[in-house]
Amino acid sequence: MTALPEPSKSTAKAIMQLWGSRNEPNRPHMGCSIIGHACDRYIWLTWRWAKSPDFEGRLLRLFDTGKREEERLNQDLKDIGVELYTVDQDTGKQITVSACGGHLAGSVDGIGKGFPEAPKSWAVVEQKTHSAKSFADLQKKGVRESKPQHFVQMQMYMGLLQLERALYLAKNKDNEEIYSEWVHFDQDTFTKHMIRADRLIVATEPPEKLSNDPAWYECKWCDFYELCHGQRAAEANCRTCCHASPVAKGAWHCDSINIDLKEKDQRKGCDGHLYIPPLIPYAKPIDGSTNSVTYQKTDGTTFTNGPGHWLSSELAVTVHTMVGDKVIDEIKEAFPGAKVVASEFGGFADLEGDFDEELKKDAPDPKKEKATAQNKAFIKGMRK
Ligand code: SF4
Ligand code: SF4
Repeated sequence: MTALPEPSKSTAKAIMQLWGSRNEPNRPHMGCSIIGHACDRYIWLTWRWAKSPDFEGRLLRLFDTGKREEERLNQDLKDIGVELYTVDQDTGKQITVSACGGHLAGSVDGIGKGFPEAPKSWAVVEQKTHSAKSFADLQKKGVRESKPQHFVQMQMYMGLLQLERALYLAKNKDNEEIYSEWVHFDQDTFTKHMIRADRLIVATEPPEKLSNDPAWYECKWCDFYELCHGQRAAEANCRTCCHASPVAKGAWHCDSINIDLKEKDQRKGCDGHLYIPPLIPYAKPIDGSTNSVTYQKTDGTTFTNGPGHWLSSELAVTVHTMVGDKVIDEIKEAFPGAKVVASEFGGFADLEGDFDEELKKDAPDPKKEKATAQNKAFIKGMRK
């Protein structure tokens, strides 16, 4: 009997797709939650929006489970007699901390007093859920050694809130076991990471890689693997543009058009975007001016990034083998304004742009609305 085809739709699939559509954009600030990450470059690339979060639905649902668990743990703390605050009493919003000209920031799970460890001490509360394996490691080694990033996160909160204690509360997702650890403020760790944040905020280029070995274990699973060890350019937005710089009060300024950039405008960028050169990992800059940079790829091909050449928004979506391709260059030249909007390895580059008068005449329905100005040219057979 012929096997029935696998259903292309199912309730489970629909739920996961729904969750998959709930990725949130990169945060505007450098988070206290990542300032303890092992890799400087990771922190910088995250803050510079080199890649948007792209978690699968299952993971986003798992994160949501963690958030819901926080509510239960908060209630547990209150029920054992802790005086717990999870929102700022003045604003009614989550308690936040901020430093380094407003560019380093974080949201605190809670601040409480009346913990069995030291009933009179106010303490920062940080809650995390763990897999059984991670939980066992935490029990064995303690938070400082087992989860250094969480340890630093608490130190930043304590330092910025001028509190001396934190309670780390962890839950084993497999069996509901709970682990708590009373953590003391460590001035050296706080100072070291404040200096780290300041250094990364003013860095105009990505810091050194944690490892140049593509097989290095911390790189293999990193969100930025393709950017550090692969061949994919960063996303094109103001944070990856060499015209943008962080200024006071957590703001950003564009030196090219001399304006302060609103967050929503930073996310869009503009056609004047010019990549910070190391964010195009497959080519080296060989020449440049205020508004363009010429690169050479390892095969000797050259291309120029900037208005009137390869726009950053095109480089962000073009596979590296097609960048600087003569056929694409010819089409872009023949149809001014034509842009590459998508591409795939071993496949096609997809271009959109304005018809010139010639093409408008040949279009199947010349009266068709202005949308006829949207021209799609497919360049076939461009093999990797
Ligand atoms: S891939 Fe490696 S070097 Fe690059 S950001 Fe991630 S950890 Fe750092
Ligand atoms: S040139 Fe455009 S993309 Fe670059 S910082 Fe200014 S507004 Fe943003």
